[in-house]
Amino acid sequence: MTTAAQHFDAVVVGSGFGGSVSAYRLAEAGSSVCLLERGKPFPPNSFPRSPLGMKTQFWDPSEGLHGMFNMWSFDNIDAICASGLGGGSLIYANVLLRKDEDWFVREEPGHGSWRDGYEYWPVTRAELDPHYDRVERMMNVQKYPLDQAPYDKTLKTLAFRDAARKLKLDWDLVNLAVTFANAGDPPMVGEPIKEDRPNIHGRTRLTCKLTGECDLGCNHGSKNSLDYTYITAAWHAGADIRTRCEVRSFAPRPEGGYSVEYVIHDPESEGVKTDTKRLVRHTVTCDKLILSAGTMGTTYLLLKNRAAFPRLSPALGARFGGNGDLLTFARNCMKDGPAGERVPNVMDAGRAPVITSAIRIGDALDGGDATGRGFYLEDAGLPEFVGWMLQLLDAPRSAWELIPKLPKLAGNFISHKDTDIGDTVSDLIGDCAESSTFLPLLGMGRDVPEGIMSLENGGLAVDWKKNGSSKAYFERVRDVSKAMAEELGGTFLDNPIWLLSRVVTVHALGGCPMGRNEQEGVVDSEGRVFNYPGLYIADGSVMPGPVGPNPSLTIAALADRFASAMIDEHKGATVSAPPPPSEDDPAPAATPAPEAPPPSEHPASLQFTEKMRGFVSFGEDDFDKGFRAGKKSKTDLMFHLTVLMDDIERFISDEQHPGSITGHVQCDALGGRLEVSQGWFNLFVEAGERGERKLMKYRLFMEDGEGHPITLRGFKEVEDDRGFDVWSDTSTLFTHIYAGHVEPAGDDDAEIVATGILHIRPTDFAVQCATFRVHPAHRVDAIGRFGALFAGDLWEVYGPKG
Ligand SMILES: Cc1cc2nc3c(=O)[nH]c(=O)nc-3n(C[C@H](O)[C@H](O)[C@H](O)COP(=O)(O)OP(=O)(O)OC[C@H]3O[C@@H](n4cnc5c(N)ncnc54)[C@H](O)[C@@H]3O)c2cc1C
Repeated sequence: MTTAAQHFDAVVVGSGFGGSVSAYRLAEAGSSVCLLERGKPFPPNSFPRSPLGMKTQFWDPSEGLHGMFNMWSFDNIDAICASGLGGGSLIYANVLLRKDEDWFVREEPGHGSWRDGYEYWPVTRAELDPHYDRVERMMNVQKYPLDQAPYDKTLKTLAFRDAARKLKLDWDLVNLAVTFANAGDPPMVGEPIKEDRPNIHGRTRLTCKLTGECDLGCNHGSKNSLDYTYITAAWHAGADIRTRCEVRSFAPRPEGGYSVEYVIHDPESEGVKTDTKRLVRHTVTCDKLILSAGTMGTTYLLLKNRAAFPRLSPALGARFGGNGDLLTFARNCMKDGPAGERVPNVMDAGRAPVITSAIRIGDALDGGDATGRGFYLEDAGLPEFVGWMLQLLDAPRSAWELIPKLPKLAGNFISHKDTDIGDTVSDLIGDCAESSTFLPLLGMGRDVPEGIMSLENGGLAVDWKKNGSSKAYFERVRDVSKAMAEELGGTFLDNPIWLLSRVVTVHALGGCPMGRNEQEGVVDSEGRVFNYPGLYIADGSVMPGPVGPNPSLTIAALADRFASAMIDEHKGATVSAPPPPSEDDPAPAATPAPEAPPPSEHPASLQFTEKMRGFVSFGEDDFDKGFRAGKKSKTDLMFHLTVLMDDIERFISDEQHPGSITGHVQCDALGGRLEVSQGWFNLFVEAGERGERKLMKYRLFMEDGEGHPITLRGFKEVEDDRGFDVWSDTSTLFTHIYAGHVEPAGDDDAEIVATGILHIRPTDFAVQCATFRVHPAHRVDAIGRFGALFAGDLWEVYGPKG
C-alpha cells in the first residue's frame, strides 16, 4: 500500500538567498511551506579548520563528502558555491550592496537572438528599492566600525583606503551582514549577541572576532547568515525545514500543482562511497514550487527535468556569467619608513572580516567621463592560518636569513648565558614579510552574459570564454588592480589560474534569466516560469546579466519581490492548474495495423542497424528552426537502432510494413544515453492520395535521464516534389520528442519537448547496407524481397506517372 505524499502550499528547493527569503515570506503570510535543502546545518563551531576536516568539507555525496564547498570546473571557468542550511551565506564575505541604478541595462537584441549576449532587465532599481530596504533590515547590515578602537587599527582597510585616495578612486566602506555590536551598545570583539528569540541552532553567537574566516564559515556565529536570519524566522513562522534532502526531479500534476521527488543523504553515509542513484526517493506535492537551488543547481535541475516541462523557454541555459569576478594579489607591499628607508607595508589581512571596503570604478552607463564597463574592487582578506601557510612558502628565504644568527642561537642554547630567549624564538619565526604584506584584491562587475549552460553526458556543461566579449572588461579590472598593487608598494600577481586562460567565479549568475516574454527569458519579472503556473524560480539563475557588485542582496531583493507577488496572487485567486502531463495518456497500442496478416508458415527474419545524427531544439515545433537553433546551441541527438522484421512475408503483405526497433538514443540534453524500451518502424506508409507521398516512420519509447517517459517520433518523407531526390528523402528524419509515451493517435495532442532533424551520413549509410542479417541464414531471398519492396516503392514515388 502506498501512502499519499504530504502536500504543502509551497515547496522551496534550496536555502540560499532566494530560497530562505521565499520560505520566510510565504510562511509568514500563512502558507504551509516545506524547505528542502540538500546540505546539512552548520551551527557555531561546526566549521572545520584542521587539514583533515577541510579535506571532508566538499560536496560530493557519492564519494561520501557532505561538506559545504560545491566546486564546479568547466572549460574556461571554475565556479564555487555552497551546500548547507543557509546556502552561499555560509561561505560568503557578507557584502550586501545594491545594484547601481544605471546598471539595470535595457539593450535590445542585436541579431534578434537571446544568445547574442544582450542584456535586458525587466525590473528597475526603483521597483527593487523597497525590497532592498526590507532585506537589509532582516540581515541587520552595518558598516565596519573603522572609526572606533580596536577596529581603527585594521591595517589592510587603512592601506587600501589610502592607496585608493592617492589614485583618486571612489572608495567606501561597504554594508556587511555581520554583528559587531549589540543594539545600542558600542562595537565589541567577541561579546555574546543578544537575540530576540532562539535561533534555529539554539546556540549563542558572538560579535565579530576579526578572524578573517568568513569564507570558511564563521565558528562564532558572528555573520548574520541566512540560518540566523530568514531561516530562523521561517522556522518560527512554522515552515517545515528539511536538511540533507536533495531534490532530484519534479513534474506537473494532472490535478494541478507539482510533485517533487528527493533523496536523503543520511549522516551515516558521510565518509562512505554511496551509489546515490539508488537512494530511495521521497515525494511531496505542492501548489507552488519555488526553485532556489542557485545558478548551478536550478539550471541543472531544469535541464535534467526538461522533458516534464516541454513548454519551457528556449532561453533555458542562457546568459550565464561570473559577475565579472577577477581575483588578483598585491604581494610584498613596502612603504617609506620614518627615515626614508623602505619598510614592509603591513596589511595583516587576516585580522578583520574578509572584506571591509570597496572601490567603485565608473561605467559608460553612468553618464560621466567613464568609458567601458564598470566594476568594484574589494580588499579581500584571508584566514589567519593561510598567513601561516604563506609564511611556510617563504621558509627558504627565512632560513637563509637565519644562518648568520645561528652561532648566537647555538651559543645561547649551549651556554645558557642568556636565559630569557623570547627574542631567539621570535627570530626563528622570521620577518613574516610574505604573510603580513600580502593582500588579495577581488574585482567584480559588468561582464557580458554570453555563457551557455547545457547537459553533456547527463552532467552540467558551460560554454564560456575568457577572451570573448568580456576581454576588454577583464583588462580594465586588471589595470586598476595593478595600479592599486603598485600604490600599496607591492608586486602585482595574477591568480595563477588566469595564466591558464581560466577564471574562477564565486558569483555565478544566469541560466534561467528573467525576460519580457518566453523567447527572452525563462521567468517573467516576478519569477513566474513562462507557461507553468505555480512554478517559480528565485535565485541567482534569474539574473539576465551581471549584477555588478556582489549579487546576494539583489538575489534576495528579487526573491522578496517575487514572494510579494505570490502572496498578492494568492489573496486574489487560486493558481490555475498546468495542463496534465502526457505520461498519463492511455497506454500505447503497438503500431502493427489492427488487421495484420497472419504469420507465414516458414518465417524468415531480416534486420539491419541504422545510425542517424542531427540537432534538436527545446521549445520549438518547427523542424527546420529546431535543427538550426539546435546546431547553434550544439544540442545534438544521435540514435543507433536495430530494425527487425521478424517475418519478411508478413512485413511485405502488411500495408503498414511494420518492424520493431531496439537500441539507444544519445542526447546529452536529455540525460545522455537513453535505452529504447519499445520501438516501432514502418516502411513506406502511404501518406498522399495517389501514392505520391510515402513515409518511413519511427517511434521510440524511452525515459530521459531523470526517469520521465518520452517518445521520439520521426519520419522520413519520400515525395515526388523535387525531381529525383531519393538520397535526401531517405536520409532525412524529421524528429519530434514528446513528453510521455505517446501512441500514434495521441500525436496531435502530444506535448512537444524538442524538435529537429537527423541525417544519415553517406558513410554511415554504407555501413548500414553491410548490416543486413537474415535468419535462417539460407533465406537470402529475404534481402531480395525487402530490396524489391524498397525499390518498388521508390519507383512508385519517383517513377514516371501514367
Ligand atoms: C567564497 C565566496 C564569497 C562570497 N562573498 C559574497 C559576498 O560577500 N557578497 C555577495 O553578495 N555574494 C557573495 N558570494 C556569492 C553568494 O554566495 C551567492 O551569490 C549567493 O549565495 C547565491 O544565492 P542563491 O540563492 O542563488 O543560491 P545559493 O546561496 O547558492 O543557495 C542554493 C542552495 O540550494 C541548495 N541546493 C542545490 N541543489 C539542490 C537540490 N537539488 N536539492 C536541494 N537543495 C539544493 C544548495 O545546497 C544551496 O544551499 C560569495 C560566494 C563565495 C563562494
